[in-house]
Amino acid sequence: MIRYRILNTGFFIVEGGIMFGAIPKRAWKKIYNADDEGNCLLAMNCLLVWTKTRVILLDTGVGGKDLGKLSYYQFLRMKEITDLIRLQGFKPEQVTDVVLSHLHFDHCGACTHSVNGQLEITFPNARHWVSKTQWENYMNPNELEIHSFRQQDMMPVWKYGLVQLIDGDYELFKGFNLSLFDGHTKGQIVSFIELENKELLLFSGDVIPTKANLHDAWISAYDIEPLKSLDAKKTIKEWTEGERVRHVFYHDAYEAETIITQ
Ligand SMILES: [Zn+2]
Repeated sequence: MIRYRILNTGFFIVEGGIMFGAIPKRAWKKIYNADDEGNCLLAMNCLLVWTKTRVILLDTGVGGKDLGKLSYYQFLRMKEITDLIRLQGFKPEQVTDVVLSHLHFDHCGACTHSVNGQLEITFPNARHWVSKTQWENYMNPNELEIHSFRQQDMMPVWKYGLVQLIDGDYELFKGFNLSLFDGHTKGQIVSFIELENKELLLFSGDVIPTKANLHDAWISAYDIEPLKSLDAKKTIKEWTEGERVRHVFYHDAYEAETIITQ
């Protein structure tokens, strides 16, 4: 038995020109909603997957700490990931695995939270899966990404020995596969999960952040290596050809999940 639920932890605002890079506004505005100034609503859609023995969370959202410093993003309709997990019948302590697509604050911020000014780990019994290259990037960030990484999100998790690094593709368990892709940042984890109805549940993080980004050339201006983003999308499409794919889009505020049959 494998079950899943998308957990929406809230939204923020980003200029559409950033999300769709070189694509002109007149083109992307027909596909993704924006206000008159071209501002787009983006979601933080995490995924909870569970079996008889494992409870796996894919990305955590930005979390509640230090949001004042990020007011530029205008976070709104925020929900605590732990409340959303409890609504599914699990305690945060029961989460066995946290798979982090990458370590930008909007994806891993809720790995820690603040209690009376002290940082605490949100999922104290979970192995937190991160790629080795992404971890190295986090510890020694380049100038383009330096403001996307925060020490307070992951260092406490590391100190407790809960970070599990992978150095290549990895089978979390039978039917739950992690693969690594560059582009948006180095060593992003994309999760491919086989459901019992033969569908493939795909969590692509910021490799394909919204449904509109499925178009090959619609690549975010945030991506540090756009040609690798293009390659990553093509590879994912090749790998899933002929399959019925249930694609979860982390940042899509309007279509968190769509079924794609290629
Ligand atoms: Zn993101």
